[in-house]
Amino acid sequence: MHADFSARLGQAMDKRGLRQADLVRMAANEGVKLGKSQLSQYLSGKTEPRKATLSFLASALGVSAEWLLGAADAPTPQEMRQRETPPVSFNTPTKKKESTMPRRQFKKSSKLDNVLYDIRGPVLDEAYRMEDQGIHVLKLNIGNPAPFGFRTPDEVVKDMQDQLTECEGYSNSRGLFSARKAIMQYDQLKGIPNVDVEDIYTGNGASELIQLAMNAFMDEGDEILVPSPDYPLWTACATLAGGTAVHYICDEKANWYPDIDDIRSKVTPRTKGIVVINPNNPTGALYPREVLEQIVDVARENQLVIFADEIYDRLVMDGKQHVSIASLAPDLFCITFNGLSKSHMVAGYRIGWMSLSGNKRIAKDLIDGINMLSNMRLCSNVPAQSIVQTCLGGIQRSQGLLVPGGRIYEQREYVYERLSNMDGVTVTKPEAAFYIFPRLDPDKFHITDDDQFALDLLKDEHVLITAGKGFNWEKPGYFRIVYLPRKHTLHEAMDKLEDFLSYYRQ
Ligand code: PLP
Repeated sequence: MHADFSARLGQAMDKRGLRQADLVRMAANEGVKLGKSQLSQYLSGKTEPRKATLSFLASALGVSAEWLLGAADAPTPQEMRQRETPPVSFNTPTKKKESTMPRRQFKKSSKLDNVLYDIRGPVLDEAYRMEDQGIHVLKLNIGNPAPFGFRTPDEVVKDMQDQLTECEGYSNSRGLFSARKAIMQYDQLKGIPNVDVEDIYTGNGASELIQLAMNAFMDEGDEILVPSPDYPLWTACATLAGGTAVHYICDEKANWYPDIDDIRSKVTPRTKGIVVINPNNPTGALYPREVLEQIVDVARENQLVIFADEIYDRLVMDGKQHVSIASLAPDLFCITFNGLSKSHMVAGYRIGWMSLSGNKRIAKDLIDGINMLSNMRLCSNVPAQSIVQTCLGGIQRSQGLLVPGGRIYEQREYVYERLSNMDGVTVTKPEAAFYIFPRLDPDKFHITDDDQFALDLLKDEHVLITAGKGFNWEKPGYFRIVYLPRKHTLHEAMDKLEDFLSYYRQ
């Protein structure tokens, strides 16, 4: 301890007419940590500051650090002033010394290196830039029903309103009992076996739970089979979780159904699970029971966990029935994902769920991990949970949209007809959801760069689609159209696309 430090500190403060609070404020301006109690301790002689604080005090008080520490031969405050050392002026932060160190740059984590989510990627950024310039862009790129005039049923809005005051606290981390009971009963109707209320987890959309499940499941070096084309969140989350997504082909020539031989050929000793997206985004395919049974066979032979993304299961057309793959696999461990975003047009409310089913005994440890992650995020959005019971019970209004005369049905018919009649375009008729995934003849258009195609279409015709590459689909010349906009908008978009394809070549 330097005997004179506290005295000299007080003396210098008096000379400059600075109170403790002033110095504390000046320190904060300079980004120096200095609390009032700390300063009091310096003044009472109990402690002395570290080097950085000492040099701040010296500079703020217009003295040298050596003088503060009591050195006899150090310049006095007067001498300092004569040498015109500019003191720190109160309230005006001093200019920081230029550092000779190169400026530190902050980069994204390398975990994101192989992560792709182009549905909201650079082409969309360009669309936003164009909109900022006042250009009207026809957006056929995101499966978000509300902006296209699909209204949430009044009953649902009213029920949420009425329950809002009861939804202020966190719920059970899995979700409200009433919501999970309704989901459990829904699962029962779909024949999903061995699902208890405790096996259901609500999430802020299925998206949150896809990420949660992948984090709980994947280890470095683990492989999971994911469809190609896929909804890219699956590949992204498996990759982020440290695993490897191995893509199996869905075959365009077979209605975009998964190619079972390809699935088999991709299984390795490291394969732990398989993702099945049915009905499918981006193809709109609905898989028949026989295809699902064959997938279950592969999963059974190789002891895989099945991750079934069935968020579009209530948006099926042509009188077809959706079959839950978990209902065919009571002896396997399955996780089925679903939600209200699409079926009830409430994508913004953020409510989805996952149900654990089948042979849960083999997944005890995994379930522990899922519980831990579920607890860590406390719970999902509670007001949105409060409408699950209303939505899943009673008449499903969305059914009216899916039959002749209904908007989704008629819009599909229109877009399919138009695309089928365009020269060089082939397209499979979707049976569910609201997506269509056309192919451009490689001999005619010579597309080698999907993103460039999407960008050129946007710039020339102001139509925004998502390129096939965005769905982890390797072959160039494919793209996804969302046919949610009203018919007159689709009409305009199809005219523009047709016009573009009449001259565009790569
Ligand atoms: N799964 C698929 C196949 C999807 O297409 C989407 C959204 O587009 C989701 C999951 C995510 O849905 P949610 O809004 O419940 O997060």
